[in-house]
Amino acid sequence: MNATGVGFPRTVLGFAVLFSLAAATIFARSGQQQAVPGPADLLLVNGRVYTLDASRPWAEAIAIGGDRITAVGSMAEIQRLAGEGTRVIDLAGGFALPGFNDAHVHVDSTGALLVGVNLLDVHEPEAFAERIRDAAGRLPAGSWITRGEWGAYEQWAAGSAGAARSGAVAGPFTPGRDLIDAVTPGHPVFVNRFDRSLYLANSLALKLAGIDERTPNPEAGEIVKDANGRPTGILKGAAASLVRRVIPPISFEQRVTQVEAVLAEAREGGVTTIQDLTSGAQLRAYQHLHRRGDLTARFMLRPTLDRVVHAAALGVSRGFGDDWLRFIGYKTWVDGIMGSSGAMFFEPYDHDPGNKGLLRDIMRPEGREGAAMSMTAAQKYTDFPPGNLERLLDQAVESGIPPHVHAIGDKGNRIILDVYEKLLAAHGLTDRDHRWRVIHAQVLHPDDFQRFGRLKLVAEVNPYHVSDDMRWMEERIGRERSRGAYAFRRLKDAGAVLIFGSDSPGTNAARYFLNPMYGLYAAVSRQTLTGEPKEGWFPDQRLTIEEAIEAYTKAPAWASFEEAEKGVLAPGMLADIAVFDTNLIEVGGSDPSRLLKARVRYTIAGGRIVFER
Ligand SMILES: [Zn+2]
Repeated sequence: MNATGVGFPRTVLGFAVLFSLAAATIFARSGQQQAVPGPADLLLVNGRVYTLDASRPWAEAIAIGGDRITAVGSMAEIQRLAGEGTRVIDLAGGFALPGFNDAHVHVDSTGALLVGVNLLDVHEPEAFAERIRDAAGRLPAGSWITRGEWGAYEQWAAGSAGAARSGAVAGPFTPGRDLIDAVTPGHPVFVNRFDRSLYLANSLALKLAGIDERTPNPEAGEIVKDANGRPTGILKGAAASLVRRVIPPISFEQRVTQVEAVLAEAREGGVTTIQDLTSGAQLRAYQHLHRRGDLTARFMLRPTLDRVVHAAALGVSRGFGDDWLRFIGYKTWVDGIMGSSGAMFFEPYDHDPGNKGLLRDIMRPEGREGAAMSMTAAQKYTDFPPGNLERLLDQAVESGIPPHVHAIGDKGNRIILDVYEKLLAAHGLTDRDHRWRVIHAQVLHPDDFQRFGRLKLVAEVNPYHVSDDMRWMEERIGRERSRGAYAFRRLKDAGAVLIFGSDSPGTNAARYFLNPMYGLYAAVSRQTLTGEPKEGWFPDQRLTIEEAIEAYTKAPAWASFEEAEKGVLAPGMLADIAVFDTNLIEVGGSDPSRLLKARVRYTIAGGRIVFER
């Protein structure tokens, strides 16, 4: 199998027919005789074009007609295609490559963070008040300011490799409503500390919730009061639900505004496809923007696996949709996350000896109560009677939409590998072109790497997790287990198809950026943003810049069955292109820190220039 697995045979006939519709109207695919294109709408000339097309890896210019690439070649070859109405852009040596395809974005929470308030890196009063004031300036009066997740970098600063804690902090920072009331007279505020141990409401939010001096503490909760008996705004435990229940769901207009904010960020980062976790409310917002012609990145849709019954009944199968909105998978989760020590392991966490992580609700009821919790490394999860996960996945296979399943801890990964192995065999798919995914594949038991190759699985990984998470990884799971963490080289060598996602906006304990430069940097350097540790964290797991770019462009298109549409710059492909001021291949190989300074000059989606610096 070659690096992206593009060598898998396309065995499903219906699928070939789907793509031939698009192919027939444009130009012949690579390897066949190409039609001679007429005058182009847009020419990009004088660039360093990194095509990811094995038959022509580098070029100088690109011709675009409508929403497709019509030709890629030398200056002489392409300039001939200029006609009367052709726009010609001189890239002046700029670096062009396929638009980035981010395989893992939480669009709703990224939008909420961009439009609302981000307090993850805040743990002192001035910055706290300032961020809240800025959010109030962005949001119409009356709308709620929620989440925030303050204090996530209080113990370990961003850029720390974890050797030393930032130490200076005396105790957890605890804000009060007095800090923000003056800047939020018209906005109710209900934000939380990253670990949900504390919530802060401003005076308006307390009033709307009916909380005052006389309100008694609910059972298992506390309304914190000052020496005079006045609520400080801090709520703990069950007291938070007194406010939560009066917060209205966000309006359709606000949802659209949030998606627009994500699209703006994507354009600025050269991202032209976003693989999302998609709710019904999100899809309605996407369709609204699509009808208006305002989509500037393509959304690949992944409803949650519990929707399989309804989607299958409606006849929704793989590839349903169009070039801008398309169903590509069912998303579900086995276990929790590292940030809150919820990822599921065979052995307890080093810093929390009573804890081995947890299962997500969708796993319940299991085949036998507690089967996963009691399973040892020597047993197979599928030796127990089938649980909810297995039953739902079985239905997904029937519907033809492949599963994309989140697994983080070594046991979480073992569970999904056991279930995949069993179901692939039961449906006769093991040697077929199924492209099933394990999302994150974050910490693997040494015995499990080879299974990715044997089962032909896609590993949807998040390289920037390395840069951020290393601040606490070894304290939580120790050096030995960390060898199997974010082990991209081992996964690739084992035969997994690696695809990259940002996991934007992160978790309640970490901020992950949509800008692909962070992911490329992390994959090739395995360092924090400040260059720690000098030799890289488990440096033998580094990827080359060529491999990293492939995992962010060509491979995710393949993993979504869209390799005939995008992911390489070649005639007939969608004209989704990013142009940078920096040669990413060159600096990625010589000085990865310069990736972080690379700036997009143009983003082109479907032949349209959607961003220009
Ligand atoms: Zn995620």
